[in-house]
Formats: sequence, structure tokens, C-alpha cells
Amino acid sequence: MARATLHIDLDAITANWRALDAASARSTRTAATIKADAYGLGAAQVGPVLLAAGVRDFFVAIAEEGAALRKILGPEPRIHVYSGHMAGDAAAIRGAGLIPMLNCIDQMTRHFEILPGHPFGIQLDTGMNRLGMEPAEWAAVAELALGQGPVLVMSHLACADEPDHPMNAQQLQVFRDLTDGIGVPRSLAATGGVLMGTAYHFDMTRPGIGLYGGRPFDAARPVVRLSLPVIQTRELEPGETVGYGNTFTAPEPMRIATLSAGYADGIHRVLSGQPMLYHGDSACPLVGRVSMDLLTVDVTALPEPPRALDLMCPAQGIDALADMAGTIGYEMLTALGPRYAREYTGGKSR
Ligand SMILES: *Cc1c(COP(=O)(O)O)cnc(C)c1O
Repeated sequence: MARATLHIDLDAITANWRALDAASARSTRTAATIKADAYGLGAAQVGPVLLAAGVRDFFVAIAEEGAALRKILGPEPRIHVYSGHMAGDAAAIRGAGLIPMLNCIDQMTRHFEILPGHPFGIQLDTGMNRLGMEPAEWAAVAELALGQGPVLVMSHLACADEPDHPMNAQQLQVFRDLTDGIGVPRSLAATGGVLMGTAYHFDMTRPGIGLYGGRPFDAARPVVRLSLPVIQTRELEPGETVGYGNTFTAPEPMRIATLSAGYADGIHRVLSGQPMLYHGDSACPLVGRVSMDLLTVDVTALPEPPRALDLMCPAQGIDALADMAGTIGYEMLTALGPRYAREYTGGKSR
């Protein structure tokens, strides 16, 4: 079988959620952000395991994700939608019992008109200028909004992956100025904010990447192992070249293995010539260009031609690969395409 396997450790995800939960006060609820199909790892598998671990609040990006998640999780947990209440969302919001985070007066008007009495939250912009009501907007409608009983008021930090960045304290101050004394549960922190300490935690935190083993949660348990089958191995004479563009020339006799996965599977082409592929503790360099469906690897150092090699593993995690690709762990995960067999371990102790 040439299909590569993405191994996902559900117990590690649960352990990471518990560790982040334990980092905040007992009065702070720890939610889980599982937008984009749980960062590419499968909301249908990750969601139920987190529910079983005690998560009662989930966050997704768009209403359609929330509706799909409701079918998976059943009626119990709260499912919040970051994009709020867009035109056309009402049926999904009502049908699936979603909680839209209203981002502007337009969304608020729409929500109160079409779904009066339906639970909602408010998202405030404290400086990121991406989603949420501006302070002036909030000043104009806060009384009206609070009179309708929002279940949560939240904002989002722009620089929480850099704890010393002055933007963090600045946004914290703006959030406090906008919300102190409102008597509604508040949330400011994602993974980075959880790690910055209790001043940032308020009533609820919303970690995502930390659950999936990514930076800035350095103490996270690794969650993914990506194992790629070898389709062929061949012996090269010195001077022979490998792959598109002849970018690699064998300096000596070598053995090259061709692996089944490529840039169509989220192994960014910019990684060409950079990472290692692991066979247990043995590291084998990727050589030549990353193709759409194939990688070529120098396996000369292995005593036998391998049957499979790991690209993601504890020795080379998502952030190590992200650094080589000039991106972040979030993008490495969400770029992993639909072609892998996703194999899950753990999570059966419900
Ligand atoms: C994605 C997202 C989160 C989760 O962020 P992580 O950095 O993955 O923990 C939290 N809040 C908002 C508004 C988001 O968009």
C-alpha cells in the first residue's frame, strides 16, 4: 500500500488539554478550539475524546463547522463560532444550537432580529484589528447587548507567542477597560495566553495549538507521527542525479529510497533538501526536490532498505519542520492533506 499514515495520539491531546487546564485557576473553564477539523487532525475523533475528558466548551471558525460538530458531540457541550452570525447562518445556528460570537453591530442586529432569545457571545477588538467590535462600537451598544444576556465576552491576543511583547499587556488593559464589572464570563487567552499566567485567564481559556502539540506550548506531548511508505529503492553511481531539476548529485555510491507523499500532502516544496526522515533513531536526509506525491531520501546509512520512514516524529516535530519551511506548526498541521490514512491511538477510556 502506497498510502502514507498519519498517526494521531488522542491520549496525548487529552493530556495536553489537562496540562493547560491545570495551568489555570479552578474557576477558569478550559475550552478547546477545534476549528479547521481540529487543525487537520479530525474533529470527529478529537472532539469526542475531549468531551470525554471533561471539555464542555468548543470553538470553531464558521457555523458549518459547528453544525457538523454538533452531530458528532451530541446536545451537551456549548459550541461557539468565532466568525459570529453571518447572513445565511441562522438556520445552522438555531438548528445546531450554536453560540455565535457577534463581531459588529450588523451581526448583533441580525442576531437579535432573526433569532431573538438565542444564546450569543460578543467578540471585542482590543488591538488586533481582525475580528470583534471596536471600543467605540462597543461603547455605543454595550448596554443593549448586555441587556440581552451574552453568555461570553471575548477578545484575542495578537502577540501571545511572544510573552514579552508589550502588545500583550496593552491588550489586557484594553480588555479590562472594556469589560471590568460587566458581570458576564470573559475570555482572552488562547494557548499563548494560558502560558502567560492567570492575569490573562479570566473565566475561560480557548487553547488550540497546544492541544495538538505545537509551540508555544513547549511542554506539550507530541501528537502526530507521519509515516511514509517506501515505494522503491535504487543504487546510485557517483555523479548520478536525483529528482526534478537535477538539484542533487550523488557524491559517492548511494542508496536512494522513494517515499509516497509530497507537496500535495502538505510537505511543502520549500522543504526540498532540508529535513531528515527517521528510521527509529537513524536520520536519513531528504535529497532532491519534493515532488507532488513523492520524496527521495538517502538511506545509504541504513543496513537494510527500509519499508517506511517517519517525517514527523518526536525527533522532528511540527515546529522543527515549520522552521525549515519558514512557517508555523499550525500551518504544517492544517496543510496535511486528505490523502493520508489517519490512524488514531488512545481515547478509548470513556
Ligand atoms: C484559533 C484561535 C484560538 C486558538 O488559538 P491557539 O493559538 O491555537 O491556541 C483562540 N481564539 C481565537 C479567536 C482563534 O482564532
